[in-house]
Amino acid sequence: MVDDYSVLGFETRAIHAGQQPDPRTGAVIVPIYQTSTYAQDGVGGTREGGYEYSRTANPTRTALEQALASLEGARHALAFASGMAASDAVLRTTLRPGDHLVLGNDAYGGTFRLIDKVLSLWGIEHTVANLANVDEVRAALRPETKLIWCETPTNPLLGVADIAALAGVAHDADARLVVDNTFATPYLQTPLALGADIVVHSTTKYLGGHSDVVGGAVLTNEDDLREQLFYLRNAAGAVPGPFDAWLTLRGLKTLALRMERHSDNAELIVQTLAKHPKVSKVYYPGLPEHPGHEVAAKQMRRFGGMVSFRHADGEQAALELASRTKLFILAESLGGIESLIEHPGRMTHASTAGSTLEVPEDLIRLSVGIEDGTDLVADLTAALG
Ligand code: PLP
Repeated sequence: MVDDYSVLGFETRAIHAGQQPDPRTGAVIVPIYQTSTYAQDGVGGTREGGYEYSRTANPTRTALEQALASLEGARHALAFASGMAASDAVLRTTLRPGDHLVLGNDAYGGTFRLIDKVLSLWGIEHTVANLANVDEVRAALRPETKLIWCETPTNPLLGVADIAALAGVAHDADARLVVDNTFATPYLQTPLALGADIVVHSTTKYLGGHSDVVGGAVLTNEDDLREQLFYLRNAAGAVPGPFDAWLTLRGLKTLALRMERHSDNAELIVQTLAKHPKVSKVYYPGLPEHPGHEVAAKQMRRFGGMVSFRHADGEQAALELASRTKLFILAESLGGIESLIEHPGRMTHASTAGSTLEVPEDLIRLSVGIEDGTDLVADLTAALG
């Protein structure tokens, strides 16, 4: 067994960290420990690993957590039943009634809904700011601000925030910086190394990678915070089942290969869209004219598989386009091997209508898959007409 996984490359850690052959049978792949409870050697005498009950801990989930922690360069990882359950646990652990947080002006709609409609009932206040503008973030801070909640790149407008700069702003104010790293994944960007305090993931997306499982994760280097998150997760119970943990762990093994191919295909598509007469604007951090390009190039390995664009002929044309592609499947979610297309204004981001987070009505979002890139370009070009 390797003593220190942290010195190994990303691809090696994805396959080996937390995933040693099963000591009893030699099974090379971590088994699905499909059990709710564990035999004890006498009352209170747990066996190796200290497992008692699967809401508290399960060996398949432990393997997933060790692998995730290794990939994000974190001391601790906790897996949750969904990305929203992970975000909810962070918000409820770090904030108390009367506290305030700052979140980005194009945060994922579900995160905004949780903060705006649910946490507000418990007296937690928020301010929406453009996180790409550090002065605007600083101006949004209050004495009660405990968190800055950042996505970068954002969903769906692919905005980019400077993680190191935001960490500085948060720490000057005795607040924490949370980064939702779902779009980038630890292969492209590791926020804790840039100064962030907490990372959250919807593992439903690129980490699972095959559109067959819903899950989430929280990562941090803070021991106390880990204990508080663990306590809340056990108390509230939003845990992934063993099979879900196993599917996510299997997905992780190919994350690096997939992210390279997602990025290759996205770049090919962006080149086509950027010169297409029916496209009025393309949002992709890899484009030199993207306002966050320099920051993205500094903090990301590549620019990922998410691309958004506006249809030059307006909302109706955008809606028709989304229904006309043959390979790009019209569906919510993202980050799977297959390409997806959606209309954020009517689908994933419908809950932001009328709010400061409302998205353009002619916007289309693509989750570019790992198919043959030329097939994807041909599909989109044919649908654009
Ligand atoms: N964060 C981002 C950036 C997302 O895109 C999503 C879902 O789309 C979530 C969090 C929530 O994750 P889940 O759907 O796994 O609860």
